[in-house]
Order: sequence, then structure tokens, then C-alpha cells
Amino acid sequence: MRTPLIAGNFKMNMDIASARNYARKFKELVDTKYDVLVCAPYLQLETLISEFYGKVMVGAQNVHFEDSGAFTGEISAPMLKEIGVSHCIVGHSERRQYFGETDEAIAKKLPKLFENGIVPILCVGESLEERNAGKEKDIVSHQVKADLVNLDEEQVKKMVIAYEPIWAIGTGLTATKEQAQEMCKLIRDTVSSLYGKAASEDILIQYGGSAKPENIKEIMSMEDIDGALVGGASLDPDKFNKMLDF
Ligand code: PGA
Repeated sequence: MRTPLIAGNFKMNMDIASARNYARKFKELVDTKYDVLVCAPYLQLETLISEFYGKVMVGAQNVHFEDSGAFTGEISAPMLKEIGVSHCIVGHSERRQYFGETDEAIAKKLPKLFENGIVPILCVGESLEERNAGKEKDIVSHQVKADLVNLDEEQVKKMVIAYEPIWAIGTGLTATKEQAQEMCKLIRDTVSSLYGKAASEDILIQYGGSAKPENIKEIMSMEDIDGALVGGASLDPDKFNKMLDF
């Protein structure tokens, strides 16, 4: 049985004081049987973890694949483990696009997170150009294959993959529920062909891209969609809380 996971992605927003206010408000509102997570900038993680006190899980948005060393400006998985994050987003399209993150680097990050007891949320998705050229399935199945290459079946079972079409992120354009279902099923089938049926039945697959209170019910009604990765709509605790009602 897969428990739905609704995850917020604050991206590069909020400061420590506003994260504290957010947590105080959100934890009073949250009353759900689903799993809830917020992924915040590094500097706000400790505040969120201590304010939520386990009621809401807290994740990071990126990690380096080495434990330590001369990598100025980076944060490692053991550092994230030390403060108690539960999840970490890897390979978000903004990181692939603006920071040159490659499938090769992403593939090294995933086992490092597992080594430190942190669940990865791997983001995959095609651009508008790729969709218009009819290449979305090739692109996404290639990303899944290339990114999971260093993981074993037991790890794949425990991870999360978020299908995030780049054209739907922050644009107000949402994939139709049929488009989202088709791509999430493709991801599940790709996992099944690589790691077997059991892994494909356990892995959580989220949709992300302009998910909001108005469309969460139809997104979550689809068979292969187990949750959402929510950017803009997660920044307001009332709005984000409404997304837990589907
Ligand atoms: P959005 O972002 O909900 O603002 O479209 C989603 C994401 O990038 O994870």
C-alpha cells in the first residue's frame, strides 16, 4: 500500500523568521492521514525541524555526492543527516537547467542519500520543445534509467520520483490528468522493467507543475499518481493545507 506524499518545495524563498511563522501556523492546521513534507533552503531546515517536531517532515532541495572535501558552497548527505532531514529533492529541472546538473551527478547523489537514511525525491520531466516534438516518453524514460543506475531494488522501492513537465512548472499550465497519468505510468513501467514488479508497486510517483488546491483532487484521482510536489502553492500554509484534502 502506497501512502500518498504531498511535498512542498519552497525553492529559494522565505527567511528563517518567516519559516518559523509558517511552521507554527501550518502545524496547527495539518490534520491528515497522508504524509506531508516541506523542502526548504538549507538555512531554514533546522528551524522547521524543531518547530514541526515530527508532525511534518522536512527535506532539502539538493545535496553533493561526496561526504566532505574541497567543494566550496556544497552540502553533503552526512550534514543533512546530522540535522535530521527525512527527504532530499534531486535533479530538479531548475538545477538541471540553471546549474548544469547532469544525470551522471544525479546518479551519484541517490545512493549517497540512502547511505545516510534520507529518501530521495528524483525529479524528471520534459521541456515544451521536447513534448511538441513527441519525445517526452523517450526523454523521461532515459532520465529514469540513467539516474537510477547506481541503486538496487530495495532502494528503488523506498524512493520517490516526481514527474514534473518543465512547461508546467511555475507557469500556471498544468498537465491534464490524463497526460500526468500517462507519464507517471511510463515511469512505473520503466521501473518495473529495470527492477521488477515489486519495486514498481512500492515506489511513490508524484506529479509536479502548478499543482494547487483547485486541481489536486483530479491529479490524485489517477491510478499511478501517489502525491504531488508543490512549488508556488506550498508557500502559503492555508493554501498548502487545502492540498491535503483530496
Ligand atoms: P510549481 O513548482 O508548483 O510552482 O509549478 C513545482 C516544482 O518546481 O516543484
